[in-house]
Amino acid sequence: MIETAPPPPPPPALRLRVDKAALAANWQALDALSGSARAGAAIKADCYGLGLDTCLPVLRDAGCAQFFVAHWSEVAAALRHVPAHQIAVLHGPLTGDDAAYAKATGAVPVINSLQQARIWAEAGGGLCHLMVDTGINRIGISPHEASDPVLAMLDIDLLMSHLASADADSVQNPRQLSALRVVAQQIPHQRLSLANSAGIALGADYACDLTRPGLALYGGVPRAELAGALQQVARIEAAVLQRRRIAAGASVGYNATFIARHDMDVAAVSLGYADGFLRSRGPGGALIRGDARLPILGKVSMDMVVVDCTAAPGLVAGDWLEVPFYLPDVAQQSTLSQYELLTTIGPRLRRC
Ligand SMILES: *Cc1c(COP(=O)(O)O)cnc(C)c1O
Repeated sequence: MIETAPPPPPPPALRLRVDKAALAANWQALDALSGSARAGAAIKADCYGLGLDTCLPVLRDAGCAQFFVAHWSEVAAALRHVPAHQIAVLHGPLTGDDAAYAKATGAVPVINSLQQARIWAEAGGGLCHLMVDTGINRIGISPHEASDPVLAMLDIDLLMSHLASADADSVQNPRQLSALRVVAQQIPHQRLSLANSAGIALGADYACDLTRPGLALYGGVPRAELAGALQQVARIEAAVLQRRRIAAGASVGYNATFIARHDMDVAAVSLGYADGFLRSRGPGGALIRGDARLPILGKVSMDMVVVDCTAAPGLVAGDWLEVPFYLPDVAQQSTLSQYELLTTIGPRLRRC
């Protein structure tokens, strides 16, 4: 161990750029599409991998005043930017320790079961949200539990449910909406909330009082109707580490899955699956240099990927390549979901 701090590191050979103007515009577009309802924002999982410290101030300054995290461990980071009463914790209190932490910080629990309602009441209660499961069958009280006396002890701001199939034209959508409306008649609450990003495209009925977009804020397009309203937020670039000429018959990468049919120029690029560029993005994938498309050759490694640079004759070490990241297109090409593409962005990229 060295006693003195090392000097600051040189600039990295890969970078994630978050387009803050596009992020703000996406929230504003989703808020407008929510009609008379307001849009909140799902900021769980480090703002879907794009960095909470980068994204949360932008959402707040755009006008957002209701934020959703999943875990209690995500509260402290959000508290650096927004007041506690605007932070809802979706997983709710699993233990008395969770409830005590909610009381101590002021973050608001989403109550998901009668058991969680009891835990909250025993910790002293106070303002909370309530999740009703209307058909996704994950967490939330069941509609038949709506008359349980323990719920009458709760002071409920948001009465919420979550759509299972909002990205499709499914009969499940209207069924879930009606189920929530029935429960809303039985349980006193301040605001009603159902729609996630895709749900916003289902129309005004689904918007209720508050919508909860996540994916669409960060440039994901869960339904084609939203494509025109949303902008790409994340851009990723990686630098060429080395260019080399390989002979016909030579192979590239682990297990030699690519074999050159003729002599060709290839380039190793500083991006791999540890950065979220998973192996499924290799086959059929490419990196971009200006107008040129440089196909990926062989298996993606942990810290490197190799591309065919025939289409970029002047390419040298240190040059930057663009990693395609328009989410609906990349999802289709890679078989990963748009959510997975965002949330698997690796720590080396998030830090830059
Ligand atoms: C993650 C989450 C959202 C946001 O969903 P998107 O599909 O990303 O818009 C909304 N509500 C709940 C309960 C969630 O867990």
